[in-house]
Amino acid sequence: MRRYQVLIVGAGFAGAEAAWHLARAGVEVGLLTQSLDSVMMPFLPPKPPFPQESLLEKAYDPQDERVWAFHARAKYRLEAEPHLHLFQATATGLLLEEGRVVGVRTWEGPPALAERVVLAVGSFLGARLFLGEVEEEAGRLSEASYPDLFEELKALGFRFVEREGAVPETPTTPGYRVRYHAFHPEEWEAETFRLQRLAGLYAVGLCVREGDYARMSQEGKRLAEHLLHELG
Ligand code: FAD
Repeated sequence: MRRYQVLIVGAGFAGAEAAWHLARAGVEVGLLTQSLDSVMMPFLPPKPPFPQESLLEKAYDPQDERVWAFHARAKYRLEAEPHLHLFQATATGLLLEEGRVVGVRTWEGPPALAERVVLAVGSFLGARLFLGEVEEEAGRLSEASYPDLFEELKALGFRFVEREGAVPETPTTPGYRVRYHAFHPEEWEAETFRLQRLAGLYAVGLCVREGDYARMSQEGKRLAEHLLHELG
């Protein structure tokens, strides 16, 4: 079975950025995400300034601010990288060997194996979406948040804090709020991106720190630089 050097769970702003930089440096990367239709999908159109030489910068087109068109340009660039395997699956839990994370289980069945696993799951851990009177389990409009991974992380002893983000109403979309969980700051080491409870496990993006798209992309770049250093 294929074993990646780095497996990233979640192709949002942080995970996709990290995967793109790692793959361009020759690292064999798996980028697993629950829906290929929402790869690097913004809530609202991204606005510059962006980190230099980032995937975010490359996918941005000031002449075309449609969010799905931004998503399509980012996905196209990810798919063009020969060392990057972008695929659709939902991570439901961690695969452990002698206390070290060696991959993830997936809802679809086949496990994904790697030397290092990065959680880049954004606002999807134990997420609830509020739209008017409606409340549902979702990390973004029309994108479900499945409970399995969050429940397993809690069972493994990880601690979380509750956070909330809001999307204002626009002429074409309703406003809504998302309440989600992020790892407790003591679980994560900002310098190395390690989730310290388990060896081989890292996290990046909104699931560990707050910020806008540019910040998430910058964090993805910083993670790639750190892992390149670790991999030698
Ligand atoms: P995301 O971009 O959310 O990516 C996470 C990805 O992980 C998703 O694609 C999801 O499908 C995938 N995933 C989750 N769980 C699994 C699993 N178990 N298996 C496989 N895949 C999984 N910032 C701005 O600059 N502008 C805004 O307008 C803005 N609006 C926001 C609105 C809300 C409601 C929130 C919560 C945040 C907002 N932010 C905004 C802040 C932040 O920049 C964005 O949330 C950004 O998308 C976070 O990037 P990320 O990579 O951490 O997560």
